[in-house]
Order: sequence, then structure tokens, then C-alpha cells
Amino acid sequence: MSRDFLYTGSPVHIVFREGASASTGEWVEKLGCRKALVLSTPHQKADAEALATRLGPLCVGVFAGAVMHTPIYVTEAAMLAVKQTGADCVVSLGGGSTTGLGKAIAYRTDLPQIVIPTTYAGSECTPILGQTEGGRKTTVRHASILPEVVIYDAALTTGLPVAMSVTSGLNAMAHAVEALYAQDRNPISSLMAVEGLRAFRSSLPKIADAPADMALRADALYGAWLCGTVLGTVGMALHHKICHTLGGTFDTPHAETHAIMLPHTAAYNAVSVPDLLAPVAEIFGGSVGGGLWDFAKGIGAPIALRDLGLSEADLDRAAGIATENPYWNPRPIDRSSIRALLQDAYEGRRPT
Ligand code: NAD
Repeated sequence: MSRDFLYTGSPVHIVFREGASASTGEWVEKLGCRKALVLSTPHQKADAEALATRLGPLCVGVFAGAVMHTPIYVTEAAMLAVKQTGADCVVSLGGGSTTGLGKAIAYRTDLPQIVIPTTYAGSECTPILGQTEGGRKTTVRHASILPEVVIYDAALTTGLPVAMSVTSGLNAMAHAVEALYAQDRNPISSLMAVEGLRAFRSSLPKIADAPADMALRADALYGAWLCGTVLGTVGMALHHKICHTLGGTFDTPHAETHAIMLPHTAAYNAVSVPDLLAPVAEIFGGSVGGGLWDFAKGIGAPIALRDLGLSEADLDRAAGIATENPYWNPRPIDRSSIRALLQDAYEGRRPT
């Protein structure tokens, strides 16, 4: 096997410690800033306001309007807040939706970002921004989008509901599984992917019983960092293409869609790259697809696309869109195979 590779390290500062969010003000100052705008979803507004209070004079306001898929109209409202407050950096407190809003602001202004993730989605480690306008999702990749500082504080994740912890964890695991066979993978991305999968394998089943256990939450957050980092450094393939299609066209929920599709896309690609996916079978037991499906079902994840409100007729359209301009994939893609894969996922069948 060829040992040739290109490796580029990520310049993001990673602060990983229980209670580390208390040091947000120090990081604002280290970035040379004095006027932070704190971002959140409406749901996490109280947490954002508490953070703003702790930042004291270093904070010029809170914008708590972030929503899923970064719609342009929300970004425009946030840009107004940036202008009115004279903010010189943004602090994004929340999951991928809030991080997305911070990235959208940074893309337009080049303001530095501090991200404090409270889910396992991994967006904080990528230079990728997905935005929507008029129901259409577009993706941009740019250096200004990559956050400067990420503060991982497991104490902020103990309140993540178990069902969301499960789907968010599987969302993160999908980044790692696809990183293992990425065309541009390198030894570090593969090591990080395997370590990330192991972290979720050991923590997620126990989080269901002990959601407030700080050590388990730290393990899962560690997995989120590893999986998010590989998402930001190597290319994704069939799995992400299908999930973007389903989310973008049919508005299926992000993490749940990833959770349901992962065993099916992994099983499909394992036919072509069994050696590269061998660590997945080793970590989860059995076959690649079967092991992931058993794991997901065992921790209470949704397993059928039909439970996300899709109809069988949608599957034809989805198979068409997912196979038009496909991402590179280790196994050739054709419409009928992807249609069959979607049918299995729709019915919640265990991949063979
Ligand atoms: P989310 O950010 O939409 O969060 C879902 C809900 O959970 C929100 O209401 C949020 O406020 C709440 N929440 C978050 N953390 C919580 C906590 N600890 N306790 C209680 N409630 C909490 O969900 P997500 O799955 O993290 O992010 C999905 C979005 O991120 C999608 O738009 C997706 O496209 C994007 N994303 C982008 C990238 C990228 O690299 N560009 C990567 C992954 C995800």
C-alpha cells in the first residue's frame, strides 16, 4: 500500500477542560478583541445571556436568533447586530446551528470566532459553511470560516437530552467513518477517526443511563473534536451526499438523518474498501453495516427514514438528486443501487 500523503495541521486553538468556558474572556483578550457578540439559538438564550454577564465589559450584546441550516435572513439580522454593537469578535455558544451563524458572520466580516460547542456535530472544526436561501442550500469553504478558538467544556453538555446525544454522536461518527476511506486521508486523519469512533463506542451507551456523568460527557466531547477535525480536513463521500440531499430537499432533521443512514452507507462502501473499514467492524463488532446498525439501535437511535416524515415517493427523487453530481466515492454509485439503499433505510432494515 502506498505511503504517500499530504498532511496540513489545523491552526485552531483547542481548549479542552471541564469548566473551560469560564476562560472565554481570556480568549477574547488573547485574540486582541474587546467587544464580543455572543450568539445562540432562542432555546439557549438564557445560557448565552449568562455567558454575556460573565464576560462583563468584554461583551457588547447577545444575538439569540440562530436556527438550523443558516438561512440568509437570520445572518442578515445578525449582521445588523454586529454593525450596531461594533462587535470585534463572535462567541458562538451551542450546536452546529449557532456555529453556522458565527461562521456566516466571519465569512462576511473576517471577525475572529470563539466557539463553545454543546453538541457533537463537529462544525467548530471545519472551514465549511452551509447556508440556505429560498429553500436552496449552498456550501462554501474558506479560511475565514474556520473558527480561531474552540472551547470544549463537558459541563455544558450534561443537559443535552439523551435522544439528541445519541443522534448527534452518530452524526459525528459518520464523519469518522467517511474519513477512513477518504481519497485525501492521511495517517493522522485515520488515527483521529478511529480514536473518535472508540470514544463514542465507549461513552454513548452509558450516557443513556448517566447523562450527567462528567467523565462520559468528556469522552463523547473528545470524540466530537476528533470526528469534527477529520470532517474539516478530508473529503466526505456518499454518506454526506445522501444526508445533504435529504436535509436540503426534504428538510429532514440533520442529526437523525445521519444516524439512520450511517449503517447503510457504510455497508455499501465496505464492499469496495473492506480493509479501510475493518476498524469499524472491529470496534462495533460483526460486519461494518450490521455492527453500526446494532449499536445505533441499542442506544435508542431512530433507524427508519419513514419515521422522519419521508414518503416512498420521495425516495425516487432523493436517489436521483444524490446520484447527480455525486461526491467522489470508493464504490461506484448508480441510481438503482442508491434507490435500494434508501429503501432499506426507509424501512429500517438491518444492512446485510
Ligand atoms: P443544533 O445546533 O440545531 O441544535 C439543536 C437544538 O438543540 C437547538 O435548539 C439547540 O439550541 C439545542 N441544544 C444544543 N446544545 C444543547 C445542550 N447542550 N442542551 C440542550 N439543548 C441544546 O443541532 P446540531 O446537530 O448541533 O447542528 C446541526 C446544524 O449544524 C445543521 O444545520 C448542519 O448542517 C450544521 N453542521 C455544519 C457542519 C459544517 O462543518 N459546516 C458540520 C456539522 C453540522
